[in-house]
Amino acid sequence: MELTVNLGKNSYSIFIEPGILKNAETYISQVFQGKRIIIISDDNIYPLYGKTLINALPSYECHSLVLPHGETTKSFDTLPQIYAAMLEKKITRSDLVIALGGGVIGDLAGFAAASYLRGVKFVQIPTSLLAQVDSSVGGKVAVDLPQGKNLIGAFYHPKLVIIDPDMLNTLPPRYITDGMGEVIKYGCIKDASLFDVLSSHTSFEDLKDQLPSIIYRCIDIKRIIVEADQFDTGERMLLNFGHTLAHTIEHYCHYERESHGEAVAIGMYQITKISEKAGLTASGEAEKICRILKTYGLPCECGLPISDLTDAIEFDKKNLDGHLNVVLLRKIGDSYIYPTNLHFFKTAGGI
Ligand code: NAD
Ligand code: ZN
Repeated sequence: MELTVNLGKNSYSIFIEPGILKNAETYISQVFQGKRIIIISDDNIYPLYGKTLINALPSYECHSLVLPHGETTKSFDTLPQIYAAMLEKKITRSDLVIALGGGVIGDLAGFAAASYLRGVKFVQIPTSLLAQVDSSVGGKVAVDLPQGKNLIGAFYHPKLVIIDPDMLNTLPPRYITDGMGEVIKYGCIKDASLFDVLSSHTSFEDLKDQLPSIIYRCIDIKRIIVEADQFDTGERMLLNFGHTLAHTIEHYCHYERESHGEAVAIGMYQITKISEKAGLTASGEAEKICRILKTYGLPCECGLPISDLTDAIEFDKKNLDGHLNVVLLRKIGDSYIYPTNLHFFKTAGGI
């Protein structure tokens, strides 16, 4: 399956196919005529797929940089090590960076590629569910500072995205659950029929044979939104459905980053419950969301009292003067941006 993200001279193709990793050269040779490649990956993923990828690129001189796994690697402080490796391997502007990994490696290697020598070509080979349905597409690349996540970044598009759903066979279950939070989000904001497909299955295992088409549908939604709002000034905000509360929950409950999907799940259900109460969402939708979240092992609530929640939202630097935009659903598959204030959340009585 193939998709094209149409962004003028920044356009690129996305190929989704089980086993496609073994044919990487067929696709890479269409966008890269140079000789040297540096593969950036982490110490979980590289031992599983590094050799397969290198064997699949016989016409190129391949080098690798393997970094420790985890969000702490996506740090500003990791960049000098990456630039040093690129210099040592004599990577020039006519060479290529391949990001082989989850969202951490995609964001980090993408930012390194964007900034090294004012930009070298890069290709995304996303390996986690979250990266395959979300972070590998859209051109946002970034690193974290001690003061906060994604504070240093750029819009820098890959030349190509290669998605091999078979790679998810080795992804630990907690990251599958995490990614399912974002998959359900796509159904909620734009695709009622995707929501129905997800609702008609009983678990991720049960869904597996449909995975390529589910990834395709998620990426297609992201493609449409990114094409409409390349630089994140409007429509892209719909992708933040559930995320206002999620960020607050993550911050306030000191959740591990690994629970981002759980925090998004709680955020999606709770915001829909609040907006249903306010008559802004068709009744019964919150319950449907809660049911589907539970099917895929995700929570709907976390026992946070409303006073703590509103305090935490108030503290969030994005919510100046108590004004904030939230993403709501008219009904499942139909989302919109709703400008509001903190009072909106006070009707909840706890989440
Ligand atoms: P991750 O990259 O840390 O991957 C999760 C874990 O799974 C890691 O331990 C990794 O080593 C392991 N892993 C990945 N693929 C595997 C595989 N196939 N087999 C075995 N193990 C595998 O985390 P993530 O959830 O993929 O991404 C989170 C990051 O993505 C965050 O930094 C977030 O900010 C970023 N993000 C970016 C965007 C964007 O638009 N750029 C969007 C959403 C999230
Ligand atoms: Zn998210």
